[in-house]
Amino acid sequence: MNATPTMHCPDCRVELQAIKLVAPTSLGFRGEPAAHRELEYAALEATSTGRFLGRIPSLGFVCGFICPDCGRINFYGVGHESKTNVQL
Ligand SMILES: [Zn+2]
Repeated sequence: MNATPTMHCPDCRVELQAIKLVAPTSLGFRGEPAAHRELEYAALEATSTGRFLGRIPSLGFVCGFICPDCGRINFYGVGHESKTNVQL
């Protein structure tokens, strides 16, 4: 994916801002997220490959852009091999 700095919200026409999408990987003492990692995506039919860890093969990372006015978020998938080329 080639991210462009001039993406605009289809509803408001306001310039979108790049965001990072994260998911908690563990919970702390009070049930609050203690660690995070970037959100990934997988094939619909993907299943766990590990007998003990249950890892699902990832195809890449999810990038997002948010509208500062209405909060609309656009998602884009970026393959692992392309991530180093994405300029957000
Ligand atoms: Zn908007």
